[in-house]
Amino acid sequence: MIAAIAAIAAIAASAPDAIARLDPDPLDATGRSEQPTRQWVPRGLAMSVFNRLLVGTLPLVPRFIVGRVAARYVAGATLEDALRVVAELNRQGAMATVDLLGEEVSERDKALAAVDEYLRVFAAIQERGLDSNVSIKLTLLGLKVDEGFCRDNVATVAAAARARGNFVRIDMEDSSCTDATLRIYRELQARHGNLGVVLQAYMRRTLTDVAELPREGANVRLCKGIYVESRRIAWKGYETVRANFVRALEKLIESGVYPAIATHDEYLAAAATALIDRHGLRRDRYEFQMLLGVDQELREILIAAGHRLRVYVPYGRDWYPYSIRRLRENPEVARHVLRALVARR
Ligand code: FAD
Repeated sequence: MIAAIAAIAAIAASAPDAIARLDPDPLDATGRSEQPTRQWVPRGLAMSVFNRLLVGTLPLVPRFIVGRVAARYVAGATLEDALRVVAELNRQGAMATVDLLGEEVSERDKALAAVDEYLRVFAAIQERGLDSNVSIKLTLLGLKVDEGFCRDNVATVAAAARARGNFVRIDMEDSSCTDATLRIYRELQARHGNLGVVLQAYMRRTLTDVAELPREGANVRLCKGIYVESRRIAWKGYETVRANFVRALEKLIESGVYPAIATHDEYLAAAATALIDRHGLRRDRYEFQMLLGVDQELREILIAAGHRLRVYVPYGRDWYPYSIRRLRENPEVARHVLRALVARR
């Protein structure tokens, strides 16, 4: 990693004029897309080698660099920041789901503070008339403290959402959480009726999970999956994961589940629209979902084609783990890190 940073810094030092021509940060807080303007970048192989080196060693990149490069993926530190971004997304024709950043909490007080914050989020969404629901992570709400404690916290959040006519999406975390997440989802969905869950196309178990989910009123976000999992339980091939995504989506549609199709992969967006057409799904029977700061152009294309689309809007002070996951997926992470390094000089 130090070698990667050093190599990148050396390139920066050897090409100051060219680097001065780099554009400002290409995506703003609402994820406006990058303009293909003049820029100096090491092309092709060299860049992909830098990307691979950096992705493998991102946890060693200084925090201020991570913060600077990942700013596009996070609305800001406060609820007010998130609400401002949601209002702007609504103006652009997109719905939103607000996520309070934080995970792997080991103290009850922190989990309870997160519950209180979510109650404020629902109140603010309703007071401002915003089109947004909420996404939660069970390890922020105490899953690793105690499953029963976590379930009670989720129940409080779901009840507050229901009182305000809103909806709670339970994000799916790494495989150590999958069974408990599905258990809590089933129990609370049966009780409250306003929860949704997430299935990950890279997991080998996902087609079975689709078949076993209670169908009545089910709302499932389907994504590829972001955590590092063993090959024993997760598909690893890029095309294999795509194929499993399409199979899972078709099964969800066939069983009458409301699918939230979460991807920036143009191939999957095209495959999903073909399935939607083939099954004659009404526009209010599915939605696309994308992350803040990723591919606004695709977002605009899908909205212009008449699809409903929701943007995931994370906010909060605990931005680091989420940002590292997003940077790992950015195909141009080395260029952005290089730019952040140069801007620091
Ligand atoms: P990819 O092949 O990864 O990306 C397709 C293209 O999108 C890339 O070539 C690139 O051009 C662009 N792109 C993708 N990511 C970035 C990035 N960070 N920066 C810049 N460009 C990028 N995963 C979970 O495990 N659990 C969850 O609960 C979960 N919730 C999600 C919610 C939403 C709304 C979305 C959109 C994703 C969620 N994910 C979740 C993450 C998901 O699993 C994938 O890791 C992520 O969406 C990337 O997969 P992709 O389908 O976009 O395909």
